[in-house]
Amino acid sequence: MNRCDSELIRTLLSGDRMQWTSSPENADVILINTCCVRQHAEERALGRISQLASIKRYRPWIKLGVLGCMAQKRGENLFDELPDLDWVIGPDEYRKLPELIGGQLQPDNNLSFLRKQESSLNSKKIFLNAEIQETYYDIIPTSIKGPTAFVSVMRGCDNYCSYCIVPYVRGRERSRPLSSIVTEVTVLLSQGVKEVTLLGQNVNSYRDNSYDFTDLLHAVSQVSGLQRFKFVTSHPKDLSERLVQAMVEIPQVCPLLHLPVQSGSDKILSRMNRKYTREQYLQKVDLVRKNIPEIALTTDILVGFPGETEEDFQDTIDLLNEVRFQGAFSFRYSVREGTAAASLPDDVPESVKIQRLEKVIQLQRDLSRTWYESRIGKTVDVLVEGTAKKSKGFLMGRSPQDEVVIFNGNGTNIGEFRSVKVSEVRGFTLVGELV
Ligand code: SAH
Ligand code: SF4
Repeated sequence: MNRCDSELIRTLLSGDRMQWTSSPENADVILINTCCVRQHAEERALGRISQLASIKRYRPWIKLGVLGCMAQKRGENLFDELPDLDWVIGPDEYRKLPELIGGQLQPDNNLSFLRKQESSLNSKKIFLNAEIQETYYDIIPTSIKGPTAFVSVMRGCDNYCSYCIVPYVRGRERSRPLSSIVTEVTVLLSQGVKEVTLLGQNVNSYRDNSYDFTDLLHAVSQVSGLQRFKFVTSHPKDLSERLVQAMVEIPQVCPLLHLPVQSGSDKILSRMNRKYTREQYLQKVDLVRKNIPEIALTTDILVGFPGETEEDFQDTIDLLNEVRFQGAFSFRYSVREGTAAASLPDDVPESVKIQRLEKVIQLQRDLSRTWYESRIGKTVDVLVEGTAKKSKGFLMGRSPQDEVVIFNGNGTNIGEFRSVKVSEVRGFTLVGELV
């Protein structure tokens, strides 16, 4: 999501008065797009900002701005924590960036939400956090490099999972008009993009008046020249038979589904406010597998949620063994202030969280290996993204199931689709030959 937003910001700032630099030491303006979904993400962001702020010692005139969810969450307090900071800008305020950088944004031009502080250096500190709920529906990225692109189809989230800060920092769920998404995909294709990934925190609850997510899939599949597309993240409670049917019917939709389960324990799922039981989740998995046998299922696992006993944790391990996901992102719970779960005692000791996380990672590593090995001998359709970083002379691309595939691709160009026969697995990379 943040990579997608950073692209959006790039587009908003693509005027002729500005130029991008890859080295912060040369910049007059440094913007840091942040995430705050877990404590670790915030710690990393704060570390990085302090590091960048040190540039001000020898370039005191530069402007330093924090963007994204952490900006929304911490607001003006960030100025106290990081005195070198000039701007704190929430995720719904990016349209003001060009003006802000142009120096034209004044505190008194009817911007009621604008607050101003005077620092000791007498430079203006600006904090923008809009009440409006942006979708940026009309902003089409202009600087996509490479053959793949994200397309944000909705923003925010209304699910209020008890551990999660997203609804508080990203606001209520709202979808972009279907037509604006079709336009964006069309324009991206004309810029050389070959594959898009539709993006939303709860992408399958997309709704534009009478159009739902299934209608969106059909509409996107009709964009001429689009050979394949993917989507993330789907909430299990909104995975309907109609959606699975659409995935079967639409050949351009990749057989790939990220379906975060979080926990295998009904008690924990209910406390997390996930709105499904273990049994219901497993039924959805069956439904998908029955209809799309080649589906690659992935998930998110959250260990150490308040009240998670050894037994609850074992339920998660059993579920992993039962479903055998292609891959899983796993995290240990960290309290997010302001969420419902923050009022529960964070009672799983850190050492236990670490142990449980390690168990999940190790088990999933084995399960993923089995998945990858099962791909040996298969021929996969690879969209070539570039040269392989670690294997000299090899090209790298991705399969419809999102596996990284490397192959010796003489005469193959980046951005082309190629059939590759898998002969070997190295780590979690498929190695093959052109067919
Ligand atoms: N919208 C997606 C996920 C968004 S956040 C969904 O519903 O699944 C990505 C992942 O971060 C979540 O799936 C969850 O596993 C993890 N996460 C969210 N809040 C967390 C917290 N407080 N501590 C640790 N992990 C968290
Ligand atoms: Fe957070 Fe739940 Fe919304 Fe995902 S669905 S963003 S985990 S509140």
